Amino acid sequence: MSQTKTGHCMCSCVSFVARNVPETFGACHCDMCKRWSGNVFNGVPVPSEDLQLSGEGHIKRIQTSDWAERAICAECGSPLWYRITAEGPTTGTTNLALGLFDDTSDMTLGYEFYVDRKTSANDLPKDRKQFTEAETLALFAPEDASHDQGDKQ
Ligand SMILES: [Zn+2]
Ligand SMILES: [Zn+2]
Repeated sequence: MSQTKTGHCMCSCVSFVARNVPETFGACHCDMCKRWSGNVFNGVPVPSEDLQLSGEGHIKRIQTSDWAERAICAECGSPLWYRITAEGPTTGTTNLALGLFDDTSDMTLGYEFYVDRKTSANDLPKDRKQFTEAETLALFAPEDASHDQGDKQ
């Protein structure tokens, strides 16, 4: 069951209303997500057309690889989302940062990416889908990028 949820960045310059928010979210332990978010990035996949943003002028988009962008609040630095920009099965999905949501009480961690790269701080129980770096790249990365950019996402 999906629902409508709201959220905002640390300084509230950027806020959103998201429809069709799933109950489960993912964790990514890749090196880029670790550095970007401080350790692990929890992303809530929302169809981009169901995302209504306020504060567009405060959003800084960063193309962090050939196939994806990340966005932050330019005022407070809060990570906002990770989004695949290259054509593929997940194009059009915005992975909103879990921490932005006002209410996450009914949401659960459903899957993890790059489990072979995670820090000991994230040694979570293994009762969910887990994908290694290679398995994650096989799912999302363009064929020609999966060999020489293993640390990128
Ligand atoms: Zn902010
Ligand atoms: Zn990642």
